[in-house]
Amino acid sequence: MNLLKPTSANSCPLTPLTFLERAATVYGDCTSIVFNNTTFTWAHTHRRCRQVASSLARLGIRRGDVVSVLAYNVPAMYELQFAVPMSGAVLNNLNTRLDARTISVMLRHSESKMLLVDVHLRALALEAVSRFPPGTPPPVLVLIRDLEESLSLPPTVESRVNEVDFLMSYEDLVKKGNSNFDWIRPINEWDPITLNYTSGTTSAPKGVVHSHRAIFIITVDSLMDWSVPKNPVYLWTLPMFHSNGWSFTWGMAAFGGTNICLHKFNADNIFSAVDRHKVTHMCGAPVVLNMIANSPNAKPLKNPVHFLTGGAPPPSAVVLRTESLGFIVSHGFGMTEVAGVVVSCAWKEKWNRLPVTDRASLKARQGVRTLALTEVNVLDPESGLGVKHDGLTQGEIVLKGPCLMLGYLKDPLATAMCMKDNGWLYTGDVGVIHPDGYLEIKDRSKDVIISGGENVSSVEVESVLYTNPAVHEAAVVARQDKFWGETPCAFVSLIGKANSEDIIKFCRDRLPHYMVPTKVVFMEELPKTATGKIKKFWLRDMAKNLSPPKERSRI
Ligand code: ADP
Repeated sequence: MNLLKPTSANSCPLTPLTFLERAATVYGDCTSIVFNNTTFTWAHTHRRCRQVASSLARLGIRRGDVVSVLAYNVPAMYELQFAVPMSGAVLNNLNTRLDARTISVMLRHSESKMLLVDVHLRALALEAVSRFPPGTPPPVLVLIRDLEESLSLPPTVESRVNEVDFLMSYEDLVKKGNSNFDWIRPINEWDPITLNYTSGTTSAPKGVVHSHRAIFIITVDSLMDWSVPKNPVYLWTLPMFHSNGWSFTWGMAAFGGTNICLHKFNADNIFSAVDRHKVTHMCGAPVVLNMIANSPNAKPLKNPVHFLTGGAPPPSAVVLRTESLGFIVSHGFGMTEVAGVVVSCAWKEKWNRLPVTDRASLKARQGVRTLALTEVNVLDPESGLGVKHDGLTQGEIVLKGPCLMLGYLKDPLATAMCMKDNGWLYTGDVGVIHPDGYLEIKDRSKDVIISGGENVSSVEVESVLYTNPAVHEAAVVARQDKFWGETPCAFVSLIGKANSEDIIKFCRDRLPHYMVPTKVVFMEELPKTATGKIKKFWLRDMAKNLSPPKERSRI
């Protein structure tokens, strides 16, 4: 057969942004967003996103510029997942738990042109921007006011933002925008759509860049893999800043879902939102499952709720307890570098006949590749070959497929270390493959601690400890924590005088709070290998034997 060439009709760039137009046609009168007492339909959302995109373009945002957002799970945050890339810009969601210094590093590294700020995070954003050195232009600031307050203003009145620092308010971007704006489509499906930082407190921020193509594929794949039906009612407990809510931000438009937005959540408002809105689906790290399972006000659900958990290993006992309340737990594995869930514990009908404890242990395994991932394997670190499928032999989990990142922004070296010449993305996770082909994570080779589903780079905490004049050597490892899964534990040798409180306070003043060690162990000298490397594996073992933390240290 002669080779047929692609034409402009069949090679138009894939992008998840086209889901929104379709949602307006198919689900135009269905609810798209609910927040407190405000409700939007998909027709509204489509219009509002185009208005915001046109305002961004009018304000000078150009194709390829970075636009950052620092916001909780409010309606504007949802809309911006579409509106920013519809203006041609690259969307940079920032983690709301970071400190001003880290946010400032990320804004500078990305050369962000605009920062849209939740009114409740105003002080944090202003402090971040105040840290820009003279001569470095800060991003233009836009304030996302509380929605109900903004909407109550008469349409003719431009809602003046009191602070001089902000150019305008988000609702002004909506009001002044053109609802027929011909949004800026990607020229090529490999064009960037998102930038998500996985670390950044040191001078080497790692910004993961994804293409329109990758996001299109992962979004469709995630909906299929979780068997999401049309018109789901989706409760936003997973922060949208976290890998764009594992791509379910765009996914809800694809299937005409209702996004239930909460400013902040706890077990009580989760249960009441589930009841009030008849929630069908939600996602979250195991820490959220734990919160639900252990809530004193936990009550059996009237209707089943599908809960997709990931980001850290879910303990089987927690899965069991949450399922006994009526949640149907699914388990997936992913990382920012792949934009969502790429390995999941695909459930077999016959497993339903097993005792509950066996079911929960099976569900705690990470599983098999989703349909869109081309290959997953566990490689022996010495030989580079796949390990035996015996559930015992450990190796590094590697991935191959179309939803892998384009790379780390301005960091070809880190990109090459993660995505190697042999065609694999190295996850830094250590796992085994069971005889039935299901994969299970056992450990991590990368220096990452996962606390409440958020990554803490131990290297970043160590670099702060080393700036303390009393510290001689420092190493940070994970310590098991019933509530958070893991918290950082610091091993320190001293050259000056300091006690645990001094060290913890020192870190608190310099790091986001979730990165601060909850325990400091002093040693005369840290244990080293023959080549002088600190024996982290040895310290990890020691951390396992420390007495457990007394109670929840923070939320
Ligand atoms: P996310 O938390 O959204 O999956 P991150 O990039 O923040 O993405 O973290 C990725 C890391 O989280 C993985 O490399 C792995 O160490 C850990 N992780 C993610 N999902 C799971 C899971 N289901 N079980 C165990 N660890 C997981």
